[in-house]
Amino acid sequence: MVGVDRIRNVSHPQVISVLGSTGSIGTSTLAVLDLHPDKYRVYALAANSRHEALLEQCLRYQPTVAVLIDENAAEQLRLALAKTDCPTRVEAGEQAVIEVAKAAEVTTVVAAIVGAAGLPSTLAAAEAGKRLLLANKESLVMSGELLMDAAKASGSLIMPVDSEHNAIFQSLPQTSNGVNLSGVKKILLTASGGPFRNWTKDELSVVTPQQALNHPNWSMGPKVTIDSSTLMNKGLELIEACHLFHVGADDVQVLVHPQSVVHSMVAYVDGSVIAQLGLPDMRTPIAHALSWPSRIESGVQSLDFLALSNLTFEAPDLDRFPCLRLAIEAQRAGGTAPTVLNAANEVCVEAFLNESVAFLQLPDTIEYTLSHAKITPASDLPTIIEADKSARQIAREMLGRLSA
Ligand code: NAD
Ligand code: MG
Repeated sequence: MVGVDRIRNVSHPQVISVLGSTGSIGTSTLAVLDLHPDKYRVYALAANSRHEALLEQCLRYQPTVAVLIDENAAEQLRLALAKTDCPTRVEAGEQAVIEVAKAAEVTTVVAAIVGAAGLPSTLAAAEAGKRLLLANKESLVMSGELLMDAAKASGSLIMPVDSEHNAIFQSLPQTSNGVNLSGVKKILLTASGGPFRNWTKDELSVVTPQQALNHPNWSMGPKVTIDSSTLMNKGLELIEACHLFHVGADDVQVLVHPQSVVHSMVAYVDGSVIAQLGLPDMRTPIAHALSWPSRIESGVQSLDFLALSNLTFEAPDLDRFPCLRLAIEAQRAGGTAPTVLNAANEVCVEAFLNESVAFLQLPDTIEYTLSHAKITPASDLPTIIEADKSARQIAREMLGRLSA
């Protein structure tokens, strides 16, 4: 269960490391913090390489530390900051991101790095007992048990930022420590269906990255937007829900809800269904995850029910969108299968964005990788990292053959 142990760090001010601060979730987080300067202080900002964007954030939030993965970009940031009176110390490399995730001063970590690259720092925050605002779903997909066990052992409270999981959290019975499953029959995970919901297979065969990046409801980073267009995002989210809420794949039902108003629901044994609704704006789940069990302003308007019409729900089409089926199968298979799925998917998304693979070849490549990778129990981090590495290799080889 999420947050099984003590609630930590809810007293103010929270001292925060924002990992992936220049991205979509990172900037939405900072927009929420802007509304509450008395409640939150930024200790660290971390990103990949965009030093100009991080410079602007440093000047505004004056964090103790700023981290860039890229050494040259970090040097650029250091030089630029030296010309200002901003006291921020600049560090470089992955170990520096891990350090700001577990630093003693930090109460709260926003895990908003994209992809498998987010795993080491997310795990470090969980091990260090931080309040962990989890956007980086890939880390749970890759190493769900390890991450949840680490959080349980340290007393880390994992607050889901992914809008669906945040909605499920809000719809589950609340306890002083988190949520529980008392009386729950099913988790209803909603999906927008992406930009190609009604497209035929023929139409899908010629989809371009630009078309896939044009999500109908949400404005997000490129990787999660492509994942939304293939429905892999929903597959990753189903696995994420299994770990966060300690349920099996069959306890989660995916419902395509193109309006993205109902962010997910929980059905109970007595026939009740509890849902969380709102505008599709990530500042709402971020604010909730920051302040739970209290509520704070997020900057998002309430829903205007009189302007809403036709909230519809339909079953996902696993034939046109096999990525969701592959994710469900990987979760059922267990062990390193979800790690392999995630790794192959990351390789495929990158290739698709580079226009070196066709849209319908993504699920084929992921399925091929799953059937050729060695699936073992995901018992420790080295095993997971090795499974990730060899799956990437298999996927790349397959993509090479496809483009030859
Ligand atoms: P994004 O591409 O907009 O931003 C990614 C951030 O991660 C950037 O700050 C980038 O500099 C940083 N980064 C990339 N590689 C890094 C590395 N190796 N080390 C350190 N930092 C690195 O992505 P996003 O849309 O903000 O998504 C972030 C995570 O949140 C993803 O896991 C995504 O699935 C999840 N998520 C996003 C949304 C959304 O609305 N954007 C919604 C739900 C979940
Ligand atoms: Mg989501």
